[in-house]
Amino acid sequence: MGYNVAIDGPAGAGKSTIAKLVAKEKGYIYVDTGAMYRGLAIHFLNNGLRPEETAKIVEACKSAEVSIGYENGMQQIYLNGENITGRLRTEEVGNMASKTSAIPEVRAKLLELQRNLAAKEDVIMDGRDIGTNILPNADVKIYLTASVETRAKRRFDELTEKGLECDYEEIAKDIQERDYRDMNRDIAPLKQAEDAHLVDSSDMTIDEVVAAIVKHCK
Ligand code: C5P
Repeated sequence: MGYNVAIDGPAGAGKSTIAKLVAKEKGYIYVDTGAMYRGLAIHFLNNGLRPEETAKIVEACKSAEVSIGYENGMQQIYLNGENITGRLRTEEVGNMASKTSAIPEVRAKLLELQRNLAAKEDVIMDGRDIGTNILPNADVKIYLTASVETRAKRRFDELTEKGLECDYEEIAKDIQERDYRDMNRDIAPLKQAEDAHLVDSSDMTIDEVVAAIVKHCK
């Protein structure tokens, strides 16, 4: 069994930025499970499906093979053998992933892949249900959060820096909607595991958040 660190929390809390840094410092493999849901979402979009077409989405799961690899230490996502990593982080794909991740068959499709990775390697795995559902016996569990305002501001700055036009209010609304969907779905909703350490990064620097997590790790 690998050494397992689980990081859960809402969209935009900085999980991937922080988890990558902790992985580097401690020599763990970083596993981004949101990217796997995004990979399946691309498959559904490629098939012209809308998120409410549940039966067709369940059927489409059968023709999707999502796998994960590493290039220069960076996680890559493959969909039926094709590297789709560069297409994962659009709003369209994020929204499709957020909606379709509430479908039990979609979650079941990725569960084994996630557990197998954690069984073989020392991992820091981020997502929504890692500490509560995927790795209930993880060695360390972190619930990383920040206020809606902080998360929206970070996202706004990130997009503006890339030269993309965006609207703060719209971003904040989108984050609130995602929080609601993630926290209120029937299957594996986002919540803090009882044995998770709560880290609220609203008023913390990246270095402070990394240090707050590293101190719990072997
Ligand atoms: O973290 P990221 O925004 O990339 O995740 C995309 C979507 O996948 C999230 O909005 C969430 O609904 C879903 N997800 C999930 N369980 C995970 C990881 C992500 O339901 N473990």
